[in-house]
Amino acid sequence: MIPGSFEYYAPRSLGDAVTFLTEHRDDVKILSGGQSLLPLMKMRLSKPAFIVDIGRIPGLDGITEQGNHLIIGALVTHAQIENSALLKDNCPLLPQTATTIADVQVRNRGTLGGSVAHADPAGDWPATVLALDAEVKITGPNGERWLKCEDFFLGLLMSVLEPDEIVTAVKVPVTGQDKTAYMKAAPRSSGFAVVGVAARLSLDAGGTCSRAAIGITGVTDKAYRAERVEQILTGKKLDTALIDQAAAEATRNVDAIEDINGSAEYRQHLTQVYVARAIQAAIKA
Ligand SMILES: Cc1cc2nc3c(=O)[nH]c(=O)nc-3n(C[C@H](O)[C@H](O)[C@H](O)COP(=O)(O)OP(=O)(O)OC[C@H]3O[C@@H](n4cnc5c(N)ncnc54)[C@H](O)[C@@H]3O)c2cc1C
Repeated sequence: MIPGSFEYYAPRSLGDAVTFLTEHRDDVKILSGGQSLLPLMKMRLSKPAFIVDIGRIPGLDGITEQGNHLIIGALVTHAQIENSALLKDNCPLLPQTATTIADVQVRNRGTLGGSVAHADPAGDWPATVLALDAEVKITGPNGERWLKCEDFFLGLLMSVLEPDEIVTAVKVPVTGQDKTAYMKAAPRSSGFAVVGVAARLSLDAGGTCSRAAIGITGVTDKAYRAERVEQILTGKKLDTALIDQAAAEATRNVDAIEDINGSAEYRQHLTQVYVARAIQAAIKA
């Protein structure tokens, strides 16, 4: 439970961090909240020679409004999201998700940027950022770029990030009148999702769904959008029969994983149950 030795660097600017990452790109790791990296290092599953602690870089820890969007700095913690009045009013799916993550200690340290960058297939944020059509700001040696989250996650702990690139912010829409909910099934010991479902619905006054976005995590090697479910819901009045019919499609063509938390068949069933629950919870929200 003791990590290997490493050289620690805590830059005061983004430019210095990127320069250091570029110089040591073959053997370097970024440290944010440390809630995923440190356990991996203690178990010697990760043995970087260099650590860049980005926690002292100014400008990465704010939540700001920008037109119809909100920009959340990479260092904003799960707890800050959970307690943000701005987010509760303008994008409640984020606080709804944050509340379900682990325990208060982890939520006080863990960051949105670190979670997205880590691309954990059992992490909660990937489902939510996909359901929100969020974008990730990436800063590296070639400057800054914004990327849609649907193009960001590649697989188990894998994203498009290069070793010398830093996630510096996440952009989400103001969801206005949309109905949202996050529901998950998780073992008590960690809180990691066996299945996690983020639902965002646009409903007109008569209850017809004009737009549905369903993000799912925990089921396969990366979070995904349940497009077939969304198609079934869109343009229709939502009732229990339709919701159950749509939820039954949530794992179509998905290669569900099998681990100590359950078989692939169990996960598929659980996903259908939680998709229906998340949609029902969103309607009532
Ligand atoms: C007991 C326990 C329970 C947990 N339960 C849950 C849970 O229920 N749901 C959940 O979603 N998560 C859970 N987590 C994980 C937690 O949410 C972490 O905070 C999160 O996964 C990683 O965020 P971090 O800021 O701690 O990143 P770190 O641990 O610092 O970094 C994680 C990885 O991302 C890289 N990285 C970090 N920041 C950046 C960045 N800005 N740009 C590029 N790369 C970066 C690091 O190099 C590292 O490889 C749990 C963790 C613990 C210890």
